[in-house]
Amino acid sequence: MKNTLKNTSEDRIYACILSFYETIAAWKKTYKRALTAVLPPPAIDADLAAIKLKSGFPLIDKERLALDEAMIKPHFLALLDIVGHKNPQEAHAIALQVADLNVFKHLLTDTLRHGACADHSQLLRFLLQETVHPLLEVHADFLAGKIGVEDWHCGYCPMCGSNPMLGVLKGQEGKKYLICEACLSEWLFSRSRCSRCGTASSVKMAYFTVQDDERYRVETCDACKRYLKVIDQRGDHPEKSAMVANLTTLHLDIIAVKKGYTPVTSFFQERHPPE
Ligand SMILES: [Zn+2]
Ligand SMILES: [Zn+2]
Repeated sequence: MKNTLKNTSEDRIYACILSFYETIAAWKKTYKRALTAVLPPPAIDADLAAIKLKSGFPLIDKERLALDEAMIKPHFLALLDIVGHKNPQEAHAIALQVADLNVFKHLLTDTLRHGACADHSQLLRFLLQETVHPLLEVHADFLAGKIGVEDWHCGYCPMCGSNPMLGVLKGQEGKKYLICEACLSEWLFSRSRCSRCGTASSVKMAYFTVQDDERYRVETCDACKRYLKVIDQRGDHPEKSAMVANLTTLHLDIIAVKKGYTPVTSFFQERHPPE
């Protein structure tokens, strides 16, 4: 089996990233358990869900999602404790900023509806995204058990409308599934179309690999100049969580960006660990 980690320097960087990820994953587990305990299951009936999916509307209505900011805030502050030590001044400023519960609620609502605000620091964007995404995950998990999304063919998430983080090839036929960068839902998608602009032109669509390692490919589209990482999880390839697969292939993002492409996902720009 080929090794994607080309040298010890890359090894060290990825070990550091994965260690950080494990810490965040432990925090997230506790946070999601707390969210699941208090969130009411989203009210959506099967007929309305079918109409929404057929019309290209995601199932989760972010405008109407309940937010228990008082319950969420201690988890946000716990995450701030974990990641803020490298920049104590900024961490202190953020703690002061969210001391007002109304300000905190506004930040959460804004991130939920519009994604990470470019005006915020990288640290604050990271904190808000990591706080909001599990909320979407919990709602998506509720819905996934009740409503199938087999007929959804859009390039954005059928649950929350966010962009895909990456694609995975699965099963004997190597069908491609996209995985949402926010709620981690997955849905079937064409192998020949661009998830961003929808083109199926074989002239525009291409892919590249590094060191002939076909497990990790980067699909590029010259119609919209976007790229999407696609992980082949067939055969004896190890099953990795989407997040780990994404984090251990950041060298592919760097190459794709150097080639002039922009990620379909916002992960690479906004979700890597704060410096
Ligand atoms: Zn989603
Ligand atoms: Zn495209």
